[in-house]
Amino acid sequence: MAKINTKVGCCSTHKKHIVMQFSQEDGKCSLVGSYMVSGDTAIVSPEPLVGEPVIGDNFARVGCKCCGNKFVYQCGQCKQFVCYSGEAVKNATCPHCGNVADVPRASGRRIPRTASFDSPYTKWASVNDIPTASRDKFGNPQGSQYDLAQDGSFTKYNVIILNLNHYVNVVEPKAALERKGFVVTVLECTSGMLDRYQLKPLLDKPNSQLWIISDYSLHLSNDTISLIKDYYNSGHGIYIWSDNDPHYVDANAVLKAFYGSVYMAGNYNGDKVLGVQQTRNGPGIIGNHLISTGIVSFYEGITISHLVNYQNVLTPLVYSSDGQVVTAFEDRNGKRVLVDGGFTRLYCNWNTAGTDRFVVNCAAWLANVERFGYQK
Ligand SMILES: [Zn+2]
Ligand SMILES: [Zn+2]
Repeated sequence: MAKINTKVGCCSTHKKHIVMQFSQEDGKCSLVGSYMVSGDTAIVSPEPLVGEPVIGDNFARVGCKCCGNKFVYQCGQCKQFVCYSGEAVKNATCPHCGNVADVPRASGRRIPRTASFDSPYTKWASVNDIPTASRDKFGNPQGSQYDLAQDGSFTKYNVIILNLNHYVNVVEPKAALERKGFVVTVLECTSGMLDRYQLKPLLDKPNSQLWIISDYSLHLSNDTISLIKDYYNSGHGIYIWSDNDPHYVDANAVLKAFYGSVYMAGNYNGDKVLGVQQTRNGPGIIGNHLISTGIVSFYEGITISHLVNYQNVLTPLVYSSDGQVVTAFEDRNGKRVLVDGGFTRLYCNWNTAGTDRFVVNCAAWLANVERFGYQK
């Protein structure tokens, strides 16, 4: 059942407050309408919006109740939704908070968010195909200014990489994350069981997220998994990496604890470069998500596994070339998780399409500044 979530917005033409109504269903969030408010009284839902907001059919037809504008952007500073014509505006002033930022030209139904002085994101957040002259040989916009996060913007943030697999090295992802400012700590345990007391102090680091790289034998005791589950429940981002059969034993143990029926399976020899998804359930990365910022083409990994029974709890992010879901995410109740069946991407063909950008975009998204605010 769709739930209506109302937020205060602004009409940029008449500089008036209006109320924007969003319909919320299955992690999708679409703007269905707006109405004018008399005085200062507006009933606003206390729950945050979940998922990337888009313009729904009704709003696309009717537009802003106050002036008829058919497009809306979100102010990166005060987070209010502001109507506009859909044409790019240089140095637009938010009618609510006065933040000055460029508003991009509308692209499809997505609601762009402007940059703000307290955001780690670039102004391209959630735009895939950024108009630019310089592209790499795979067609991706070239340069770190087209990533989701600005270089050096996450210096107060920690990424804990728990590497359980002796085939995997994380030298290149670590360097890429460090360019964005992340402090990366790698904890390796590739034989025997992990001592949870080694992991615990790392998870206590401020603004931290945990990446778990699965092995083909179990290194996580029930105690360690319950430590990780508590960490997840408190809202820290988690990235669960696995690979082809049988390199998902630890991943599946964690997935079982988090979600019950979800697991990884399969042994597909991918090794293809994918694009942005064009057809429903077709191969590629989902367009206009924060994680797909600046990604036009994308390497799927060599040998990969896929998600099974994910439909009720996770949303597909990447479909591999065999049409299975290789990467999915949870973005519900303020929690963010990524589950990925292609860890070979982390250390094989690193310089192939999009990997560097994908990895840093994932970390920036898992930092979840939308929920916790941004610490400079
Ligand atoms: Zn308006
Ligand atoms: Zn504002």
